[in-house]
Amino acid sequence: MTANCIACGMPMDRQEDHALADAARPYCRYCAREDGTMLSYPEKLAGYAGWLVSTQGLDRTVAESQAATILRQLPAWRERHSRT
Ligand SMILES: [Zn+2]
Repeated sequence: MTANCIACGMPMDRQEDHALADAARPYCRYCAREDGTMLSYPEKLAGYAGWLVSTQGLDRTVAESQAATILRQLPAWRERHSRT
């Protein structure tokens, strides 16, 4: 059974893809801190924007707004944005 990370949308095909290789956790290892708790929105946003800057050469401001657009559609953050 394939689940998608609630925080970044990555497909988690293998148990190792889950945080702490725990299939019960709905988010992936890239969205988890070392202790297995999920990253906060600002942490994930900064990480995602940094990734866009390094992989796509985007301007930091552009990367942050693009990251925000992507994250907004994911289950982990949808509620956060529906209130605003
Ligand atoms: Zn993730």
